[in-house]
Amino acid sequence: MLNNTSLTLNRGFKIRNFEEDKIAILKSNPGLHFVIQNDGTYIFSGNYYLKNDEGKLIKSFNVKITPLKNYPNSVPIVYSTGDEIEKIDDYHISKEGIICFDHTYTLNKLASGGLRLYDFIEFYFPKYFSWVLLKQCEKAENLKEWAHQDNGTIQYFQEILRISDIDKICDFLDCYLKVSKPSRNEKCYCGSGIKLKNCHLDAVNILRATSKKELQNDYHKIKKVK
Ligand SMILES: [Zn+2]
Repeated sequence: MLNNTSLTLNRGFKIRNFEEDKIAILKSNPGLHFVIQNDGTYIFSGNYYLKNDEGKLIKSFNVKITPLKNYPNSVPIVYSTGDEIEKIDDYHISKEGIICFDHTYTLNKLASGGLRLYDFIEFYFPKYFSWVLLKQCEKAENLKEWAHQDNGTIQYFQEILRISDIDKICDFLDCYLKVSKPSRNEKCYCGSGIKLKNCHLDAVNILRATSKKELQNDYHKIKKVK
């Protein structure tokens, strides 16, 4: 949800496997517990403590972080399990309490390169929960955030492609979806006539982490919006 696409992985120390990840998470988040469920899957649940720069507690949020299939190449699902945040689009939370931290394409891209849960929490939680507090006292209006659902997807394409026209975005997607394997030396899908490697290669690299089926669905939704 918050518009920030860079995530510095494992700064300061290396997390090499889930066990190390788990230890790092529990050490830096004393309100969270690691729970192995009856079916053998595991979750982290409890309180996330939002702190200020001096390390003083601002507010605690009840959360549940669900099992990570294909760890570390998956996006963790995080639920707000308390009543601190209203479960509405405005707070980027689904009715079930699932928090939307960022656009799916960005998260898929991060996961495809290996996403440690510790890094995910350190990066997204302070941003999201402090944004919520500002929003709750109506001070967040000037903060940048993604629009909801399809409009958010349009906005997302506008940013990664640096193209504002929705027709042109659709043309780009149409071309991209028809190619089975993008090649750096073919002409870019934006119609610039320039080779992909000198044009929209970065955007294509983000999109490649998301399945064509999901992109196809979004493409049809965007077409309807315009
Ligand atoms: Zn291009």
